Amino acid sequence: MGANDIIKRVQKGDIKLHELEGHVDPDLAAHTRKQIIEAELNVKLSSIGNYTFDAKSASTNIENMVGSVEIPLGIAGPIKVSGSVVDGDFYLPLATTEGALVASVNRGCSAIKAAGGAVTRIFNNAMTRAPVFKVANVSESLDFINWISENFSEIEQLANSTTNHGKLIGIKPYVVGGSVFLRFSYDTKDAMGMNMVTISVKKVSEFIEKQTPAKLISLSGNLCSDKKPAAINAIEGRGRTVSADVLIPRKIIEEKLHTTPETIVEINTQKNHIGSARAVSIGHNAQAANIIAAIFLATGQDAAQVVEGANVITTAETRDGGLYLSVTLLSLEIGTIGGGTNLPAQSESLDILGIRGGGDPPGSNADAFAEIISAGVLAGELSLLSALGSRDLSSAHERLGR
Ligand code: NAP
Repeated sequence: MGANDIIKRVQKGDIKLHELEGHVDPDLAAHTRKQIIEAELNVKLSSIGNYTFDAKSASTNIENMVGSVEIPLGIAGPIKVSGSVVDGDFYLPLATTEGALVASVNRGCSAIKAAGGAVTRIFNNAMTRAPVFKVANVSESLDFINWISENFSEIEQLANSTTNHGKLIGIKPYVVGGSVFLRFSYDTKDAMGMNMVTISVKKVSEFIEKQTPAKLISLSGNLCSDKKPAAINAIEGRGRTVSADVLIPRKIIEEKLHTTPETIVEINTQKNHIGSARAVSIGHNAQAANIIAAIFLATGQDAAQVVEGANVITTAETRDGGLYLSVTLLSLEIGTIGGGTNLPAQSESLDILGIRGGGDPPGSNADAFAEIISAGVLAGELSLLSALGSRDLSSAHERLGR
């Protein structure tokens, strides 16, 4: 069937827009859908329609596809990173439309490299899903969580049966009257893991419902907490909890960043801590979301999880006459396999970092990714705090972003 025939059938109502892939190949379906929308709205979507990947390869990423939206990609770095799983110089792929962002991160990378590089470490790794169950009363709530604890081995076996890579780490109960939330934690290796964990938790929840009086109300009870600002992720972690730090000699701060360690420490205290406390922010940082979002978009991460990714605390101290700067990313949800990472441009961005796909051993690529991102966030914090210190922030935006 050609494009014109299929357009006529859609216009007659024989085929719905979302059913096109059932009649023609995915590329023709996307092209046809775009043409129908163009005609209906009297708009031209030539840029949107000019995508370069195979629509079939994106079939697990998008429905009702009409094309793609391009985002410019820049490179910052290289930045030197010495972590638990990485040791080397890395260019950071950053997809953004914010002028001055790449230049800002690049400047931070350069100062950190001159200081000998960032040191990074991972402190926690657990993707979570928290279904909510209902029981009759608080007495049943206690019986229920005791039953979960007594039957953990059987639950663990069942949970791990739905995936080759995922491993159940633990289940933490939260009770509110007769509502019981079970926060399941998994090591999902190189995958961000939301599909993996949700499939597993569904199987376990069905088993729990059969074995106990508890009724499953919802597979997600919002204590997970996915894609919503929530203190639980900052306190208990979600995805990886990873830190980066650097000790930068005074000379580098003065010559490369045109400010002083004391000025950066003062701004970090006043802005990132006192200002954030007054605003009751969850993250206490200057621009972590900027770097997280740009790397997420470049590498095919789930963009909505920038919400959790931005749970970052930045600390600054003067030390040995220089500046000690650290960032701790409390809930960084990332993967090098699965989700949008499989798309061609996004895979190439992971190639820039040398971490496309599953690692050897499994989990090592995502660990490396987390450590590199933390170093990138450190560079972003250093650069922005310095720009505020040298009073160069608005002029940089004027020069580069307008
Ligand atoms: P996925 O693409 O659904 O699953 C990852 C796949 O990679 C699994 O099939 C896994 O196999 C396989 N795999 C191969 N080598 C691996 C390795 N070294 N480490 C880990 N896995 C490996 O991705 P996901 O990370 O679970 O989920 C991400 C997707 O979920 C994103 O598209 C995101 O937007 C979406 N999402 C879903 C929900 C939800 O509630 N379902 C919520 C938010 C986001 P095995 O499982 O057999 O090991």
